[in-house]
Amino acid sequence: MSANSEAPAKRKAAATARPVAGQCLCGVVCFEIDYPARWAWHDHSSASRRAHGAAYATYVGSWRKRFRVIKGMAAITRFEDKAARTTRSFCARCGTPLFYERARSPHMVNIPRALFQSRTGRQPLYHIAIEELQEWTYTGGPLAPLKGFPGVVWERSKKNKRVDNEGLF
Ligand SMILES: [Zn+2]
Repeated sequence: MSANSEAPAKRKAAATARPVAGQCLCGVVCFEIDYPARWAWHDHSSASRRAHGAAYATYVGSWRKRFRVIKGMAAITRFEDKAARTTRSFCARCGTPLFYERARSPHMVNIPRALFQSRTGRQPLYHIAIEELQEWTYTGGPLAPLKGFPGVVWERSKKNKRVDNEGLF
């Protein structure tokens, strides 16, 4: 996707503010935001890394008034991190991280980009806590097919370390 591919939609956003739907893995929780989202970014902080169990989290930020839970409200469980003044919601049935709210931005609801199937009107061009990027995070380097494992590609070690592919699977 090119950098300006969402520009035409952005221009028309005011006239065509249709909702964009998202859901958790099991489908119990469904929600929507009005298009376009406010912004989107990659969060490399340790808190988001742990909360998602992933190298980093990619969020779409929506104004709270442009965000709605459509169904599954009763299945939403909240974890309040009092020290960080954040609240993270997740689906009590399937564990999908849902909403990330920060006391310092009370008008915003941040939602994992991966929960939306269609475009949100914002590309994640920004990075938060990039200094916490993990050395094991895939950053788009060249990949080559792994011999003997159809469908598996791998990133050759840049540091010329010995890699034991036999023990991987
Ligand atoms: Zn679920």
